[in-house]
Amino acid sequence: MSILTVSPTKPIKSSKFSDGQLTELHSQRMSIPKLAKQLGVSQQSVCKRLKELGLKPNGKPGPFPKYKKAGPEGFLCSSCGKAKPLRQRKGTICKKCTHDRWVSTREGALRCRYSMKKCHARQKGLQFSLTLEYFKNLYEQQGGRDGYTDEQMTFAFGHGRSRTTVSLDRIDNEGAYTPDNVKFCCLGANAKKRNKPVDQFMVQLELDFSNGVSDVSQPKAKEESNPENTL
Ligand SMILES: [Zn+2]
Repeated sequence: MSILTVSPTKPIKSSKFSDGQLTELHSQRMSIPKLAKQLGVSQQSVCKRLKELGLKPNGKPGPFPKYKKAGPEGFLCSSCGKAKPLRQRKGTICKKCTHDRWVSTREGALRCRYSMKKCHARQKGLQFSLTLEYFKNLYEQQGGRDGYTDEQMTFAFGHGRSRTTVSLDRIDNEGAYTPDNVKFCCLGANAKKRNKPVDQFMVQLELDFSNGVSDVSQPKAKEESNPENTL
């Protein structure tokens, strides 16, 4: 006796709404976009079911995005021009381009960074008590500049990321992501700082800079010993 004996069953309908629901709403003269919205499903599945039930759609269907086909399972992204699988389609552009457009705005980039940080903290088992509001305000407060070196930060991530890509540093590396323990800085600075205490890192930065333009970064002690320079 095998447990795996297959008994003939009807194919299970994997839909989220019943025929009754649809006929009920359809009788209220709802258009396809409205039906789809009401039932929380796609317009296509509403169309399909209406056809199965032999019902005529009320009003006109909403405009379907016109996209260029590329083979049976692909389309041409109108943004990057590459052929992509249909499942990666968002309107006429691909998912990657949608994402790139979104993160190219400051709002999108910050939101994206925020959720990544939150996820990263959870994975590492670190406390994360920053709100998105705080995250964005902190960035604005810093004027988009590195909290240690005052360098302008950039938003290129992934393959395009560079030394100046924005990153969130935990001031005390042993501590958690709390409002008083975070600062935005460039990826380069973050990598240099690693788990050094801030004081030690600031000294290191001063030394780094003094290699190049020694005249500009005069140690503070010298200025103080020269009172005639002030005022
Ligand atoms: Zn694309």
